[in-house]
Amino acid sequence: MLFAAFKPRTKIPSLADRGSRLISRLGRSRLAPPLRRLGINRASLKRATILGGGLTLGLAIVVGSIEAQIDRIAILGFHDIIDPNLPSERAPARAPVESDYTRQDFERLLAYLVDQNYWFLTAEDLYDYFGKPNPDPIPEEFKRRPRVAISIDDGYASAHAHVFKAAETIQKRTGKTIKLIWFVNPAFLGRTDTEQPRMTCEDLQAGFKAGFYDVQSHTANHQDLTTLEPEAINIEFKQARDQLVTCIGDRDRNHQVARHVAYPFGAVDATVIKYARRYHLSGYVYDSRFLRVLPWRDRYRLSRLPVNGSMSVEKLERWAAGSSW
Ligand SMILES: [Zn+2]
Repeated sequence: MLFAAFKPRTKIPSLADRGSRLISRLGRSRLAPPLRRLGINRASLKRATILGGGLTLGLAIVVGSIEAQIDRIAILGFHDIIDPNLPSERAPARAPVESDYTRQDFERLLAYLVDQNYWFLTAEDLYDYFGKPNPDPIPEEFKRRPRVAISIDDGYASAHAHVFKAAETIQKRTGKTIKLIWFVNPAFLGRTDTEQPRMTCEDLQAGFKAGFYDVQSHTANHQDLTTLEPEAINIEFKQARDQLVTCIGDRDRNHQVARHVAYPFGAVDATVIKYARRYHLSGYVYDSRFLRVLPWRDRYRLSRLPVNGSMSVEKLERWAAGSSW
């Protein structure tokens, strides 16, 4: 089935045609006499071209087959979720931002994923079953389900209001508790003097208690870590982890809060990773790639797919299914 996708019957003539054209051009060129002196004539060139074309095609099939076998997981990355029907969440009260996604589309996407029986992975699931060096076997109940991860960055108050409500609505309709990964900057929790108001620690607690929120770190102050001195990088990781752990407190019985981090702006280098390792088991970038499940994967550079308001729900559904377009 994999090989059928490459349609070798249509590819071979086209390669042969191209080879013939190259041979004709060589035969007419100034290279022809020296090639003949070396014992290379039209027939031997043709044989070499066909062999080369065959090898290229063979290699393409092998690479394509391996690629098709690699498990790909879409980790979608949202920022603010807004409702354009609310005057407070649309211009002029609030300037639109490219990464805004509407509540209506977000709810449609979640409803689709739930109805398709998607497994909503937490950062800990991603680490345990796909990210760490010797991953745990996937539990039987999840084995055959499609997988996706929904992450939401920066901790905006409006995003919390809409996301929490959407998760509650789904729970009432289907009985399913979906998991959403929040990468939060705790230094901004409860702040209203920022460009957009931020969620509070109580908001995080409510989402965590309801079983919807997977609370992870986005570092303390949302700085580009690659521009900071080592000691400042260390503080960004430590302070954020400590504040998030304190916020959730005893509710976090399995100690899964702030075990993972998403670097602000996706900016990371070797020094940043050195400090990330002290406080976190894995780190997320923003490189517009699927997470490829490979044994040699760098778990401090896990891929995510940034989402913006121009992306249709259908496009995100295709991403969730592992399709790049
Ligand atoms: Zn951010």
